[in-house]
Amino acid sequence: MSSTIRVRFAPSPTGHLHIGGARTALFNWLYARKNGGQFILRFEDTDQTRNVENAEQKLLRSLAWLGIDWDEGVDVGGPFAPYRQTERLHLYQPFVERLLAEGHAFYCYCSEQELEAERAAQMARGETPKYSGKCRKLSAEQIAQYEAEGRKPVLRFRVPEGQKVVIDDAVRGTVEFETDGIGDFIIARPDGIPMYNFAVVLDDHLMGITHVLRGEEHLSNTPRQVLIYQALGLTAPKFAHISLILNPNRQKMSKRDESIIQFVEQYRELGYLPEAILNFLSLLGWSPEGERELFAREELVEQFTLDRIAKSPAVFDIQKLNWMSTEYMKQASPERVLELAYPHLQASGRIDANQSPETLSSEQREWLLNIAALYKEQLNAASELPALAATFFEADITLEDDARPILAEAHVTQVLSTFAELVRQVDTWTIEAIVALFKQTQTTTGFKGKQLFMPVRIAVSGQTHGRDLNMTIYLLGKDKVLERLAAQL
Ligand code: GLU
Repeated sequence: MSSTIRVRFAPSPTGHLHIGGARTALFNWLYARKNGGQFILRFEDTDQTRNVENAEQKLLRSLAWLGIDWDEGVDVGGPFAPYRQTERLHLYQPFVERLLAEGHAFYCYCSEQELEAERAAQMARGETPKYSGKCRKLSAEQIAQYEAEGRKPVLRFRVPEGQKVVIDDAVRGTVEFETDGIGDFIIARPDGIPMYNFAVVLDDHLMGITHVLRGEEHLSNTPRQVLIYQALGLTAPKFAHISLILNPNRQKMSKRDESIIQFVEQYRELGYLPEAILNFLSLLGWSPEGERELFAREELVEQFTLDRIAKSPAVFDIQKLNWMSTEYMKQASPERVLELAYPHLQASGRIDANQSPETLSSEQREWLLNIAALYKEQLNAASELPALAATFFEADITLEDDARPILAEAHVTQVLSTFAELVRQVDTWTIEAIVALFKQTQTTTGFKGKQLFMPVRIAVSGQTHGRDLNMTIYLLGKDKVLERLAAQL
């Protein structure tokens, strides 16, 4: 193979990492790792009005949490540093001069009001608004006049007329754009800072980017970028535009859409397993061969190819996310689940907020680990543990409605009192001892199966369903079990 594959994720530091951005980063990362290439992280921060403080740190943290690592970037450096566009402004200047010298760019002095009037007139004539080219050929006198008025020009790219821009997209195939539909667009602001479409081309070129995998929302930018490559006599990278992610109602998402959790940080805070989220994101718009859906990170790397990226939009399937999360929880160790659940157990008051995990006694720790083990296969996220395991932390049970009639059945008192008496006599509280208690209760009362277990389950937990009964009783402890049995007798 010829040159090494170099791909990049180029977020603007405007907030938390969105699942759409995370998916883009992931596809780039997978492509790099699969092909022994490099994955570069670059911050596109030239629109300073949109930059948000600490957003860079948040983006880095979310990527790292997902297990996506980068070979070059603001924190790790690299041969093409700096990796923050506002620190690269000096690198752009020679390209500005070339475009100007070769007539591919010009300064435009139109004011916002003039441009607005132009747009309004075009619309009144039923035309699609587009920059008229008014400042393309200003005379030296006109320029001097504008300068004297104190106008600060923007730099525009001169879009060639009557041409076609043909993009050979790895996902969408051949996509064509007419240059006549594109007005001369702004490439640098009055302060000289380049706009996205310009800076992205220069950086992708300067950083040796070979493939640009990004969201479909950028497809309309691509012809503009290709025109800049052409004007500078540079080879454009290979493009691959990944489909939009739709919400579960198959609608385009807005940032305010609450039908799904949209930011990676939120999944982290809720105690999802990052490998589950990574696996889920990988299948948003990409699919491996076959029916399988659970893939470890290395397997995803192994399987990833651009030709299996879908053209149609990906729909965010919450059922699938939950199923996948639970599958990963099942595989996770109780230690890990407890670690993730710990802050939530504290926040819900189940564990004292001042009790750090390191200060737990070995019995407390063992007890919590058993609870984590008991419930982990019901969890989407570790934050659900405090509610699921409520019965272990609360003083009294809350009787479920469907449990009441069962407790009123004639044989219940006999079962519960026999069982309670046997519990009272137990010396060593072990699972085996509890198993034996049920056997003895059965022999003594003659009740077995549901008639035996259900009353006990309800008496100790208030519920007709739950996790393993022996373990539940064991973890509740002898005293609590006796108290709860007594309360029903
Ligand atoms: N800064 C752009 C964004 O965040 C990058 C787009 C691209 O990958 O070219 O959307």
